[in-house]
Amino acid sequence: MKGTVFHGPHDVRVERVDDPEIKTPTDALVRITRAGICGSDLHYYHGAFPIEPGFVLGHEGVGVIEEVGSGVDRLKKGQRVVVSGLVACGRCFFCRRGQPSQCFESGSAVFGYGASAAGKLGWLGGEQSEAVRVPMADYTCYPLPDAIDDDCAVFLADILPTGYFGAINGNIHPGDTVAIFGCGPVGLCAVMSAKLFGPSEVIAVDSIPYRLDLARKLGAFAVDTETAQQTILDRTEGRGADVTIEAVGNDTALTSAIMAARGGGTVSVIGVFATQSFNFPIGYAFMRDLTFKIGLANINAHIPDLSRLIEKGTLDPRPLISHIMPLTDAPKAYEIFNAKKDNAMKVLLKP
Ligand SMILES: [Zn+2]
Ligand SMILES: [Zn+2]
Repeated sequence: MKGTVFHGPHDVRVERVDDPEIKTPTDALVRITRAGICGSDLHYYHGAFPIEPGFVLGHEGVGVIEEVGSGVDRLKKGQRVVVSGLVACGRCFFCRRGQPSQCFESGSAVFGYGASAAGKLGWLGGEQSEAVRVPMADYTCYPLPDAIDDDCAVFLADILPTGYFGAINGNIHPGDTVAIFGCGPVGLCAVMSAKLFGPSEVIAVDSIPYRLDLARKLGAFAVDTETAQQTILDRTEGRGADVTIEAVGNDTALTSAIMAARGGGTVSVIGVFATQSFNFPIGYAFMRDLTFKIGLANINAHIPDLSRLIEKGTLDPRPLISHIMPLTDAPKAYEIFNAKKDNAMKVLLKP
């Protein structure tokens, strides 16, 4: 089959790779029909992590079950599913608590980075490919209702649950002001998710005009990075936002999110950081009585709720799609997404 193989910084190629096979009874094989390129893929694309090349990229996929192992109970051949970016068993201490990102059995395994993020599984395929082997398939795949098309469903594999997780961690109350730093695809998913909790206003912060336009279309008050702190103060009677969400994954945005929260407010971090540490303003956070929440989203646990919200029409992430390209154009798709060419927002691949 064909897959999008990481060869090194700024070098991904669509190549023939081994066809996936069932290896353990709880595996399923999924024929991919749509896959997303994610902001976190760009960390690898930039060479931010030293990593052995030669793996298939992609942790956001939708497809059709082609084969199931003898230990798979809930899935059938021919079923349309979204494949969570996160492999989780659904049965361990953490999964039962709704924390599949800490799954003890998979070791928090994530598709699309070869061995480096495969946790206890040793190796995982990627979803920017024609097919993928899905371990712990009963909880890693989620069957899709007909009302959710493939384009929409890709968002369930990672970034919509991630935005939702950011909103949940923000503990948003009706009437709150929520400020979201970063209007990339994840930040905009956070905008949509925050609105589910009844804030009086969502303020979206970015420095790129087309991203701010899209945030505005999704119902946010959009503001440029330069003037964000002052605007947030002006719109909250000088207090700061009740909740801030960091959706970039860099020090500047995180510092801004901390500084923009009101006394007693909550800072919720969903951006993926390539750096290992951060100069945390702990004295300031102490005096301001801030709550700080951070983590990898509990994707699998959020998919059922978000799927219902999409099915009933409450959520529709499709306005975020800027490009749908053939899988064979993956190198070009990475280039476009990386350079933010052509108003790139969410870029999808079609095998
Ligand atoms: Zn992702
Ligand atoms: Zn588990």
